[in-house]
Amino acid sequence: MKGYWRYYVVADALFYDLEYTSGTISMLGFLLLFVTSFSYIRRNFFEIFYYAHIIGIIVAIIFACIHEVLCFVYFIPVVILWVADRAWRSYQSWYIPVVPIQISPAVRKTEKQEGIVRVLFDHGKLARQYHPGQYVFIATAKKGKAWCKWQFANWHPMTISEVFRGTRGTSSFTAFSSNSSVIDEAITPIEEKKMGTLEPTTHEAALPVNAADDKPEMPIPSAEEDDNASTLNTVYLRRRGAAPSLSSTDSSNMVASLHIKALGGFTRDLLNHADQNEPLYFKVDGPYGPRLEYQDYKALSCFAAGIGITPAMTLIKDCVERRSAGVSTVITHHIQLVWVVRYSDEVKAFAEQIDYWRERAHASLLPITLDLTVYVTREPLGEDNLPGFDKTVYGSRPKIAQCLDTIPEQKSVFVHTCGSDQFMTNVVNQAVSRKWDYHHETFEF
Ligand SMILES: Cc1cc2nc3c(=O)[nH]c(=O)nc-3n(C[C@H](O)[C@H](O)[C@H](O)COP(=O)(O)OP(=O)(O)OC[C@H]3O[C@@H](n4cnc5c(N)ncnc54)[C@H](O)[C@@H]3O)c2cc1C
Repeated sequence: MKGYWRYYVVADALFYDLEYTSGTISMLGFLLLFVTSFSYIRRNFFEIFYYAHIIGIIVAIIFACIHEVLCFVYFIPVVILWVADRAWRSYQSWYIPVVPIQISPAVRKTEKQEGIVRVLFDHGKLARQYHPGQYVFIATAKKGKAWCKWQFANWHPMTISEVFRGTRGTSSFTAFSSNSSVIDEAITPIEEKKMGTLEPTTHEAALPVNAADDKPEMPIPSAEEDDNASTLNTVYLRRRGAAPSLSSTDSSNMVASLHIKALGGFTRDLLNHADQNEPLYFKVDGPYGPRLEYQDYKALSCFAAGIGITPAMTLIKDCVERRSAGVSTVITHHIQLVWVVRYSDEVKAFAEQIDYWRERAHASLLPITLDLTVYVTREPLGEDNLPGFDKTVYGSRPKIAQCLDTIPEQKSVFVHTCGSDQFMTNVVNQAVSRKWDYHHETFEF
């Protein structure tokens, strides 16, 4: 107020001299952070929230230090942490080789539901760093125009929905691309490959058989045996990865998939891209997220809603594969999955994986039971049991407590849940009331 009292000019209360002006601008920077943090902005205009935070904090810190030099002491530790984090992420996303393999619609958009796109990529370090349930940040940019690269400032978290173990040291998929420059790789839509604009390839060429593969225990289909031989054969990858002889490979490469629901601008663009011919830059930063020690519990119970199924997919696959290979340190012998979807179409995106679990569980060395139920909430007239599931319930939601009561091992259960806040709260409350350990993964900030 000293500035105002001098000449009684209102503006002087805020901009009297450099000290006043810098203090005012710094406060506006902090106000920007505060206002854009409200959940309405975060959930509906995420990019405004995100960029406002970057701009707001830079402005606030610089002008706070001009206002009072000692502020520097308060800010420097967090600035160092932030810069170190950015440096580590930049290293991961720009220098660890990631080769995108395929982007394709897993479920096409219809009037009823948004559509799901599947992205497959080969990551240079994933085999050494990845644990089931973890996620990566991805960024994409259209190829061709330099300005499009600003999109690399926009990173989206996506859970890895499946990993295919047993790939070899160098990328197995360079033959799929016309220009395999590792990080500046263009994803090329399937149609283009089918039209023959790329080098022809077979699965044998893409995935040469190692010497160790001479006697695989799992039947591995040849390219000719599979319907999708002209594109990427994930059935083939899955079975190769499951062959025990391959698990000893010291390669750090791993093929992984993401299943992405087209909910907003970024994800819808990705789905649209799957049907177009534009090449796309694709970058990955990660993996991140905790290591979930489900294997120390006799039962694993996964509750998922919609696309929140992705972390459960990797947990269940990991458990089934390790039990079926006879890994005795995994004591989990009962897996329950309760999945709530709005329309049965969504299930198709994961049908192949569920078949694979069944197949592996059937031939497992250690006993394992799968109890898979899907709730289809917006198809009240449905009757058929969806393939791969023990039970399909139409037109209603699960009663969480009743579902948990059916688990045969009531003393040693690990609960995992991912979905809307309300759904997860119900599951977590039930787990807590039974004194069970749990993990919930939130997809909405
Ligand atoms: C740990 C984690 C794992 C996830 N895994 C998957 C997955 O496997 N499959 C999937 O389809 N979705 C997943 N999501 C959600 C996915 O990140 C968002 O749906 C996506 O970023 C939406 O972007 P958009 O521009 O298309 O939609 P928008 O309309 O901009 O946003 C839709 C919602 O996503 C949130 N969101 C938007 N951008 C970001 C961002 N950069 N970072 C964090 N949240 C954001 C918003 O708060 C909003 O609630 C995951 C989210 C998190 C936090």
